[in-house]
Amino acid sequence: MKAKKNLGQNFLIDQIIINKISENVNANESDLIIEIGPGLGALTKELKKKKANLICYEIDSDMKPYLNNLEDELTKIIYKDILTSNIKEDIKDISYNNLYVVGNLPYYITTPIVKFLINLDLNIKEMIFMVQDEVANRFTALPNNSDYGSITLYLNYYYNTVKLFKVSKKSFNPIPKVESAVIKFVKRNDKPKINKDLYFKLINDSFKMKRKTLKNNLKEYDYKKIEDVLKKYNLNDTIRAEELSENIFIDIYNSLYGDINE
Ligand code: SAM
Repeated sequence: MKAKKNLGQNFLIDQIIINKISENVNANESDLIIEIGPGLGALTKELKKKKANLICYEIDSDMKPYLNNLEDELTKIIYKDILTSNIKEDIKDISYNNLYVVGNLPYYITTPIVKFLINLDLNIKEMIFMVQDEVANRFTALPNNSDYGSITLYLNYYYNTVKLFKVSKKSFNPIPKVESAVIKFVKRNDKPKINKDLYFKLINDSFKMKRKTLKNNLKEYDYKKIEDVLKKYNLNDTIRAEELSENIFIDIYNSLYGDINE
């Protein structure tokens, strides 16, 4: 079996890592797990032990010989590109309590997959993904760290994000060029009550030029209102977006758009 680089095929061969990922999936028999990119089935075999309904999306039908014997009344493999799949339709006849999404993701489309899942509004309780280490850092960064950016705040609006552990290149075959890490997203029940389009625009504009001050990036905004919020936190005009927590961004949002409903 020759791995297809263009499909991000780096298969997990380290059983300790496979077990560790599976241990972090809290699903039980009454839940549904969606696995993205089962490949040769290394993680799928472990996930099956949870006896939950399991739906796997694999773009490469050359994997059929490896995955056929994993299919049964609880496990279904769908040979389709996850990004063009109609997941809602595929799972509509399954009754379940909580939905979990798991995958050693194809790295060339990590962010599109995460955004695609979020926009589907499937009420996913937790997502556990293997991603490139650098991406894991950006997704889970805290303020005052150079990895902290608009994608961090975007994801954080929907999920509490945490980097669980790093994974050595040697855990894969073929060995990838980059380091990897496993991250977990846990659905937030305390999502800020805001108009998310306006909030995400504010965030994107704030980080437009990372090295510039917030004031410079937000020239088009009513800066007097923003300044008043910053003063409350004893911050001045030299502040950059990467130094501001979600709380402060929400405060800025409220000062600009407080009277607009969700
Ligand atoms: N889960 C396996 C493992 O851990 O060994 C394979 C992981 S490999 C990093 C990524 C898998 O995603 C490959 O099997 C690849 O064929 C599949 N894949 C790539 N692009 C995909 C897409 N758009 N939709 C679904 N699967 C995709």
